[in-house]
Parts: sequence; C-alpha cells; structure tokens
Amino acid sequence: MGQINLTQVTKSFGDVNVIPPLDLNINDGEFTVFVGPSGCGKSTLLRLIAGLEDITSGKIEIDGQDATELPPAKRGLAMVFQSYALYPHMSVRKNIAFPMKMAGMDEAEQKKRIEAAAKALNLTDYLDRRPGQLSGGQRQRVAIGRAIVREPSAFLFDEPLSNLDAALRVGMRLEISEMHKRLATTMIYVTHDQVEAMTMADKIVVLQAGVIEQVGSPLELYRRPRNKFVAGFIGSPK
Ligand code: ADP
Ligand code: MG
Repeated sequence: MGQINLTQVTKSFGDVNVIPPLDLNINDGEFTVFVGPSGCGKSTLLRLIAGLEDITSGKIEIDGQDATELPPAKRGLAMVFQSYALYPHMSVRKNIAFPMKMAGMDEAEQKKRIEAAAKALNLTDYLDRRPGQLSGGQRQRVAIGRAIVREPSAFLFDEPLSNLDAALRVGMRLEISEMHKRLATTMIYVTHDQVEAMTMADKIVVLQAGVIEQVGSPLELYRRPRNKFVAGFIGSPK
C-alpha cells in the first residue's frame, strides 16, 4: 500500500500548460518531498494525485489500480491542509472522530482508532480540549490525527508548516519525520523550503516550471546535482 505511479501526466488550465508530460514513481513508505520555487506546480501536482484537480492527459495509478477517474474520497489518500480546518466548537476527540462518524463506523472501532492516533501524536492529554485551547503545533497534530484514523495509504501535505513561526516549524518538522517513522506510511510533502526538503526527505523531486529537474536522495542531489538549477536550489557546491 502507498505506491503511486504517474505516467505521462499533463495539466493545462485553459490554454496554459502547467505540467508538461511527467513520469513519477513513489514507493511504498517513502517520504517524498516536492520542492521548487513558487509557481512551479507543486500544489497542482499534489492536487492531481489527490484527485482535487483532473489531469488533462496521462494516467495515475495508486497501489497498482488505475485511479485516474476516481474521486478524491475513493483514492485512499489523506490531504493535510495548511489551514487546519478544525471545528472550533468540537473537542479534539470529536474533531478526530468526525470522518469516522460520517462513514458510519461503529463506536468501539472509532474509540480504538482515536486512542491509537492520540498516542501516535502525543495528544492523549488534549482529547477533551477544543482547538482554541491548543497551540498551533497541537492543532496541526489534530488535523493529522483526523487523517490518520482513516488509515490512508498515503498522506499528502501542502506546505503544512508555512503558517507557523520559525521555532515551532523546526519542532514540527521533527514531529512529522518521527510520525513517518512510526507509521511507515507513504508521505508526499510539498515545500518551497530547501532546508525542510533536505532534512525530511527520503527522496526529493526538484521541480521547475512543471518539469522534474531531478529526483534523488538529499545526499545524491547534494553530491551530484544534474544542473545549475538543482545545484543552486539545493545549495550544493557545483
Ligand atoms: P506552487 O504550488 O509550486 O507554488 P501551483 O501549483 O500553485 O504552484 O501553480 C502552478 C502554476 O499553475 C502557476 O502558474 C499558477 O498560476 C497556475 N495555476 C494553479 N492553479 C490554477 C488554476 N486553478 N487556474 C489557473 N491557473 C492555475
Ligand atoms: Mg503551492
């Protein structure tokens, strides 16, 4: 679970082509970071994978199944948004339970998953609080908790830390990395921050104007950048 393959995927908005034909394979359990300057197509690519935008041509496979025509809810992926979109009048417990309740899951199973998510995210002591009584980082964890309980085959993050102050951001990077290790689930993480990419990724996908300039581990990109753009962006000495 958590294998995502894009074959000759393109995206145009009207006459404007934002993603030229692009191939990309994301392996199960990998922490993949899409990095590149503002406007290069990171969010668009993530939204195409999530099914929030339709691709113009090509094919998207998730866990070996053709997902090109599937609506977002049927793709088994969880998108964690930058704005936390928590319900302010509900407790943390109820916020996390909400998607399960909507899906009609039985109460005992809901309880089990809430407890497991709270444990994984260090939220056990906060389950009865409301979002307004939490810090930014804790709210972020609740948003992730709400995604975890659906047991997605992959998590998709679009610049999840960009609203947080610098000190909190460093702590949250570590938390997300640790969560990735604990859950061993595929994660795709979009950022324009090179440091975030270099410190968090198993695999970095460097994008420029919708084109993949290079794919590799942080060390590979640092040691062997394919061109000046990658070298400049990753900060390696070439
Ligand atoms: P990034 O996330 O890397 O900053 P985006 O994926 O948001 O970049 O945008 C890539 C390009 O696609 C930009 O030129 C942007 O203006 C354009 N774009 C994104 N969404 C739309 C849309 N819904 N309609 C028209 N153009 C869009
Ligand atoms: Mg974006």
